[in-house]
Amino acid sequence: MIEVQDLYKYYGDRRAIGPVSTQIEKGEIIGLLGLNGAGKTTTLRVLACDLLPTSGTVRVDGLDVVERPDDVRGKVGYLPDRPPLYDDMTVREYLRFAARIRGVSGADVDKRAAEAEDLTDVGEVKNQIIGSLSHGYRQRVGIAQAIVHRPALVVLDEPISGLDPVQIVEMRDLIRNLGGDHTVILSSHILSEISETCDRILVIDDGEITWSGSENELATELKQGIRMGLTVRVPGSSGEAAAARARELLEKIEGVREVETLDPSESGDGIASFRVMAGSDVRDGVCKALVNAGLGVLQLARERELESMVLELLGEAGENAAARKKRKRAAQAEAAQSAADDSAKASAKAAELVESAEKADESDKDKQKEEA
Ligand code: ATP
Repeated sequence: MIEVQDLYKYYGDRRAIGPVSTQIEKGEIIGLLGLNGAGKTTTLRVLACDLLPTSGTVRVDGLDVVERPDDVRGKVGYLPDRPPLYDDMTVREYLRFAARIRGVSGADVDKRAAEAEDLTDVGEVKNQIIGSLSHGYRQRVGIAQAIVHRPALVVLDEPISGLDPVQIVEMRDLIRNLGGDHTVILSSHILSEISETCDRILVIDDGEITWSGSENELATELKQGIRMGLTVRVPGSSGEAAAARARELLEKIEGVREVETLDPSESGDGIASFRVMAGSDVRDGVCKALVNAGLGVLQLARERELESMVLELLGEAGENAAARKKRKRAAQAEAAQSAADDSAKASAKAAELVESAEKADESDKDKQKEEA
């Protein structure tokens, strides 16, 4: 569906992305993950034909974005990071308008607008003015306008940002429902926001795609195994004795690499909590060993350490990104300071010049008086 080869985008002489080469299959839901300024928006704008590449080739459904931009736009639905909504239109009016400007024929406009409302679940507010909608509904209307012309590719820039937890779950469902019929690519800087929704994650750092794969592949690649949070109860014991007993049992279980004792997650006698690191999923074995030894298992849950996995994946690149940002901030502060110094110096110089001009003026006037 998307083929990108050696794509670069420069703003003036500043490289925003490149080299980027990747392929995305039809029906995939792709998450583009990167820190602020990594190049997500620029990449999405090029894919959506909202920005021309500086060099390289980008094909959407076989069409080159430079040679056939209008045809590509007909195949793409785009939700920019700030949805292009008209606050004084109702949802239905706006979707009809969006359908018309995307070339939907007059007879089909109402049908397509209603279809997009259904898919994004905004039917109940269809007669409401957009300016009166909550942020979550505005995002949905933004997606509705992106899919109203049934595009093959849907490009969503940070669709989950700013949503509350309920809206996040609803948005994930909505995006998952778009997959299959549409190819979807969305961006975020928070891995947990997209890992649940996307089939594949592309990690972008400093304008380059540094890794691509599923969340499971990420875990396997990093040989992370799994981490579990565990709370046990040893009847009739003190907390310390319970922790020692449980730790002894846990360390004997094959596959367990490390056991870290935590503060008990709940109060009560004989309660101890741990973080258990293992090379593979040993939750069944852990549970069985503890229960067979007469311990109560109050809680056993896999912990998702996605953010740290990505930082580990970025490795030096991640550290570089942090260092780069620090350097950039320092340079900006220095530039601002020097501009302020320059402007203070310039003001002092200007005041000096004004003062000396005034003095010269006065002395000219005195001379003229004397001559008169
Ligand atoms: P964020 O998560 O903060 O939105 P991003 O990953 O989407 O960031 P981009 O907006 O694509 O990143 O920006 C990539 C780089 O290009 C950044 O260094 C940014 O400052 C720069 N950039 C983006 N737009 C422009 C522009 N119009 N002119 C000059 N530089 C730009």
